[in-house]
Amino acid sequence: MAKQFKRIETKLIHAGDLEPRVYGAVETPIFQSSTFEAGDESSYHDLKYIRLNNTPNHVSVGRTIAALENAEAGLVTASGMAAISTTLFTLLSAGDHILAQSSLYGGTHDLLAHDFAKFGLTYDFIDADDPASWRAKLRPTTKAIYCEAMTNPLLEVADLASIVRFAREQRLTSIIDNTFASPVNFTPLDAGFDLVLHSASKYLNGHSDIVAGTIAGRSEMVERIRHKLNHLGGSMDPHAAFLLSRGLKTLALRMRYQNESTLQIAKFLAGHRAVARVNYAGLESHPRHARARELFKGFGGVLSFEVQGSVDTAVKFMKSTTIPMLGPSLGGVQTLLTRPAASSHAGMSAEERAKVGISDTLIRLSVGIEATEDLIEDFAQALTAAR
Ligand code: PLP
Repeated sequence: MAKQFKRIETKLIHAGDLEPRVYGAVETPIFQSSTFEAGDESSYHDLKYIRLNNTPNHVSVGRTIAALENAEAGLVTASGMAAISTTLFTLLSAGDHILAQSSLYGGTHDLLAHDFAKFGLTYDFIDADDPASWRAKLRPTTKAIYCEAMTNPLLEVADLASIVRFAREQRLTSIIDNTFASPVNFTPLDAGFDLVLHSASKYLNGHSDIVAGTIAGRSEMVERIRHKLNHLGGSMDPHAAFLLSRGLKTLALRMRYQNESTLQIAKFLAGHRAVARVNYAGLESHPRHARARELFKGFGGVLSFEVQGSVDTAVKFMKSTTIPMLGPSLGGVQTLLTRPAASSHAGMSAEERAKVGISDTLIRLSVGIEATEDLIEDFAQALTAAR
């Protein structure tokens, strides 16, 4: 009987196991072989070759992803952007249109804004919190709707249930980037989404040592995306697949710790007089706290906040911390601080940033797995030093 694993902690450890085990090895070894002896494959896509995304490492970690997302099928890619671009280029053909949440991750935003036109694709950005405004943006050629579980860097939580309903009514494929929540906190396919994508470079791997992406959904859709990936070539390397498998084993432990630690840090910052504002869906003061509680099991490991004072105060605070590193990205075991106005959102003007609520003093924090008390003490001394 095929093994079935009910809970995420068990799935993370066992759902990707190859059967039979390779020489009894309890872990899936790295199959560092680009090609494999041919069997009786009838299709090009079934020949075993790293770019065709079907070597034992791809199969194993793909199964883990499918199990975590409660999906029929899972696929891994060379990066989060490979997962996103390959999915969109599979679902959309020249002449098609997509609705997308307006505050997307910068790479996804730029793919739509700068690359789509060359392929004859069109898009409209929508306010994902205002369902009444979506119908007016529909076109006969609209094929899909795309959103993120939580936005970066303001941690907004869109009306995800309405997105699912709208997609079903209008026969659109609903796609969600679940990177910020992780499957520990949210399984979007259970909420009715058609496809869930991740930058596995973040929480899924968790150690800031690879870039990787994942896709999960119905078998027929995932298989179509795999064939496109086979042509576009954004395939995961076997060593990265091994590191992703290894990182995944501790995802539930890391994520729950990060949920808890981030909530405590958010409360500390929100109660500090040198802090003007904290954005974290776990705080009761968050405008969508009730919605986030309904959707998510935890609120994740990223928050953003504004210190009282000028940009100099914010920079001085960041430089006065001793534990976090100052750098972009998120979801790793190490705490990272970044100022979006000088990093991820530097491409926008100060006015554009202000319009979407990103002030120049806003700091984004990705909480690692260091001791919560150590981080809080460090932030306390840095807030004092910055004044
Ligand atoms: N989606 C989100 C929400 C991200 O934050 C990122 C990267 O920061 C990506 C996608 C892109 O992932 P990758 O860097 O693995 O290509």
